[in-house]
Amino acid sequence: MNQEEYLKVCPQCGSTEIKIPNAGLDIGMSVRDKCVECGNIGNFPEILKEQLDEFRKELKKWA
Ligand SMILES: [Zn+2]
Repeated sequence: MNQEEYLKVCPQCGSTEIKIPNAGLDIGMSVRDKCVECGNIGNFPEILKEQLDEFRKELKKWA
C-alpha cells in the first residue's frame, strides 16, 4: 500500500499548521483556510507531503 498523503500548506510562510474553519459556521461563504503561524487567510494549495521540503525551498527563494 502506497497511499499518497496531501498537506495544506501556507503559501506565505510554508507552514502546515492550517486551521480549517468549520463549514457549519460558515454558511453562504466560501470556506477559507487560515494559517496558524502567520495569520494568512485564503485557499491554500494542497501538496504532496514529500514535496513539502521542495515547496519551502521555493518560498525562501522568493522571499
Ligand atoms: Zn503562514
